[in-house]
Amino acid sequence: MGACDISFTIGGKASRGEVETAFKKRRENDAIRNGHQYPYSGDFQTVDRVEYHLDRLFTSHTEALEYCLEKSEKFVNVVAVYYIQVSVEKTPLQVQLEEKIVKLKEEQRLLHRFQDNTGFVKCPHCGSRLNKKHVLYKTCRLCDQSLFTRRELYKAERIAAKIKNAECLIEKIKAEQKEKAIKKNGEKNVKTLVAGWGAC
Ligand SMILES: [Zn+2]
Repeated sequence: MGACDISFTIGGKASRGEVETAFKKRRENDAIRNGHQYPYSGDFQTVDRVEYHLDRLFTSHTEALEYCLEKSEKFVNVVAVYYIQVSVEKTPLQVQLEEKIVKLKEEQRLLHRFQDNTGFVKCPHCGSRLNKKHVLYKTCRLCDQSLFTRRELYKAERIAAKIKNAECLIEKIKAEQKEKAIKKNGEKNVKTLVAGWGAC
């Protein structure tokens, strides 16, 4: 038996009581529509309760739905959250950083490949002598360890650190941009999403 995502939206910032009422109503309607004897009806009858995560505000329906599906448990509960529908703009720096990451990842990819396929390479870990004709990536096929030289290892670490830094910065910018969009929107058009997994 599987699971399918179930959800409904209330067009406003609903209180717990209002969500509870809507949840009961939805279960009643599902029972009328799908019958109530079948335990895998794939609807709101297959969960027991609503869990409230009303301290957060999402900036799109998709984002809110993803969160609910991640936090809810099949056969147990659905999750209720608030969301608004606003566009979160990318900053020029964010675009620049994203481009930088693409370049760094390409550099990383190239570093892991042998640039020529002639001669042999000796694995510094298990001592195997490998014919480069059959070795595309700098990983030993026998012991699975890296065939990087010390210099390459250093370079790989530096690239990885640069990528991590850029990613951290992007996350920070995204959070700031989201905060700005929420502030700009105020309390307008807040909706309530109740979603999770139905057993089917
Ligand atoms: Zn080896």
